[in-house]
Amino acid sequence: MNDLLHIEGYVSPGHALNPLHGMNELGKLGRLLTHYPTTDLWELDTQRLPVPLAKLRRQCRQFAENFMAPNVKTLDEASHAEPGSLHPAALQLLKDAGRAGLMTNLLPAPLGTATLMEMRFPSAFRFAIQVEELARICGGQMLLLSAHHLGLAPICLSGDLRALWKFVRPMTQDFIKGIPHLFAYAITEPSAGSDAEDGHGALANQPRVVAKRQGQGYILNGRKCFISGGDVARHISVFAALEGEGFESWTCFVVSADNPGLESLRTELKMGMRASSAAELCLTDCYVAADAMIGGLRQGWALNRATLNSSRYPVAAMAVGMARRACEIALEYCLQTQLGGKPLLSYQEYQLPLAQMIAETRAMRSLVWQQASGSLQSHQSEASLSKFFATDRAQAVCEMGMTLLAEHGLHSHQGMEKLLRDIRLTRIFEGTNQINRLAVIEDLQPLLLDRLAGRCGTVSV
Ligand SMILES: Cc1cc2nc3c(=O)[nH]c(=O)nc-3n(C[C@H](O)[C@H](O)[C@H](O)COP(=O)(O)OP(=O)(O)OC[C@H]3O[C@@H](n4cnc5c(N)ncnc54)[C@H](O)[C@@H]3O)c2cc1C
Repeated sequence: MNDLLHIEGYVSPGHALNPLHGMNELGKLGRLLTHYPTTDLWELDTQRLPVPLAKLRRQCRQFAENFMAPNVKTLDEASHAEPGSLHPAALQLLKDAGRAGLMTNLLPAPLGTATLMEMRFPSAFRFAIQVEELARICGGQMLLLSAHHLGLAPICLSGDLRALWKFVRPMTQDFIKGIPHLFAYAITEPSAGSDAEDGHGALANQPRVVAKRQGQGYILNGRKCFISGGDVARHISVFAALEGEGFESWTCFVVSADNPGLESLRTELKMGMRASSAAELCLTDCYVAADAMIGGLRQGWALNRATLNSSRYPVAAMAVGMARRACEIALEYCLQTQLGGKPLLSYQEYQLPLAQMIAETRAMRSLVWQQASGSLQSHQSEASLSKFFATDRAQAVCEMGMTLLAEHGLHSHQGMEKLLRDIRLTRIFEGTNQINRLAVIEDLQPLLLDRLAGRCGTVSV
């Protein structure tokens, strides 16, 4: 393949009929207006980003390739770990990510490690850039690192400086020293998954994790399930209803892992993202002091929804990273595999789906970047539509990749089957894609009601 002057069906890059060649022959101004270098599309996108984000993107790619790629197989195939135990490779990854600043870069010093230049951009955008790079290499390791930011989000979004100082600063100091200090986010209950994310469902459901006032603090009782990293986190942002009240009374409490009332019952054996645990947690007369409350009494529902608004962009970005990997694997396979004495890439039957996969991936990224970069506050409709659109399309891209590789795609060393196992999970967590579709309409509700009442004209999208 290296010696080929052109791919079948195309004139060679140096031929007069090749558009780039012709553009290069134009006069100086013509060249300036038309000619462009042949650049890897990832590189092109990176160059077009503002400098601090381009730097972050390169750093994350390098980190993923150097520190995550060597563990992909080990952590995906490791036997199911006991709750609370971390595989040595996962532990090392957390230390390395901490030292690289990837666990602490939501906020600037003295609370975190984001630079002031980075802070000019919405955190959802920065985090989407980071997560795409990590998800491209391994969905499970990415989730192990990223669920931590989900756990921190309600504290950061509460704007509660006391809580930031109390919880976030020590976490940053630990990670800088190479000591893993994870946070986790606990909203899901055995009887409330979507109902913990959708107001209409929450209205009819009764929360089972309940906080009861005791002295200066609260006693928490109940169970949370499917909590990413919940068994290995040092702190968990737990959402609980006040005794005798519904989800509207939800209050967020930071519970320390060494609290005697907190127990990790088990972790799920998941189809994908196996480097990250999903734990069932039991709270039994778990006492938390009043200063463990985040954002104030009955402010949990709003904090939960705000957290999901900002975390759904990174989930969309996970999908972009996985779709991008599917494209890379498929391109490589079509270059290396021969049919009738020629590389598969010589056949249009392979070129057409490859072009479709690349276009789909770039369409997802354009959507995510455009929506996530738009505003410092994450809007629900924009975050939710990015999430369901990107994760649905990414699964389609991975399916296309599997079709191209056929039975070769089933072999774990190719990486395609793992992508398919991992991508499916992104369509479930942070709200199933059905719930995210409903969230788009929910966000438009005030305008739609105004339209119904004749108070405004056409509601445009
Ligand atoms: C890998 C993984 C990691 C996770 N990590 C976390 C975590 O860190 N913290 C956490 O709190 N949770 C976590 N979750 C839980 C996740 O958020 C829930 O699984 C998700 O919200 C769906 O809830 P459920 O599984 O109970 O499904 P259900 O709510 O029982 O839904 C079942 C089906 O009904 C549909 N449905 C439900 N209500 C409606 C409706 N009103 N209209 C239309 N369709 C509806 C759903 O779309 C779905 O298809 C994780 C889940 C996974 C898979």
